[in-house]
Amino acid sequence: MTTDFADRLHAVRDRIRAAERRFQRPPGAVRLLAVSKIQPAAAIAAMAAAGQTCFGENYVQEALDKMAALAALALEWHFIGPIQANKTRGIAEHFAWVHSVDRLKIAERLSAQRPESLPPLNVCLQVNIDREPTKHGLDPMAVSGIAAAVAALPRLRLRGLMAIPAPAADFSAQRPALARLRILQEQLIAAGLALDTLSMGMSDDLEAAIAEGATLVRVGTALFGPRR
Ligand SMILES: *Cc1c(COP(=O)(O)O)cnc(C)c1O
Repeated sequence: MTTDFADRLHAVRDRIRAAERRFQRPPGAVRLLAVSKIQPAAAIAAMAAAGQTCFGENYVQEALDKMAALAALALEWHFIGPIQANKTRGIAEHFAWVHSVDRLKIAERLSAQRPESLPPLNVCLQVNIDREPTKHGLDPMAVSGIAAAVAALPRLRLRGLMAIPAPAADFSAQRPALARLRILQEQLIAAGLALDTLSMGMSDDLEAAIAEGATLVRVGTALFGPRR
């Protein structure tokens, strides 16, 4: 079991390194976030034993339970799921990163609730890059307006943008939406925001995401197997 996790971790790291080389990205330019939603704490512990330290979770209570079970390990927790206003405190108090901020009101609550004893909460704005009616995320046109306001909040550090593009059949079909997120990020940087994180790419599109400038890929299935 532990060897399975180590094998899958090495296979995903190899994919990331190969894509960095193929698309002239500096070695180590892309971080791996292991998406552990639905997975038991034992699976996270096995992945940690294989060398993975950053984990992404989608549900606050599930994540807090696993953090408590794994408190002895030095892990970095990222929240990547939809955020309900009444769940912001658990995120502000227990996570290092949030990738799924899509309303100013949520950002304001997270900043107000971030404990002074912790460093600022690292934040990405989630963008509904394909403008899908059923998906969370800011409309691409709304991003620049909200980004400056989020960057100004005292207990948050705006790091960049995140998106979950609509599924696309293959590498070349995956690239355009990912390129649009990169361009949006470049526009924010040109406007003066100091952003360093482009959170895009999952199990099926991480090569296309790295080709388009991802600095962090969020991988679940390719590491842990299919979710039940
Ligand atoms: C579940 C999830 C992932 C991982 O998706 P896989 O296809 O299993 O790699 C990445 N990002 C977010 C926001 C997710 O909810």
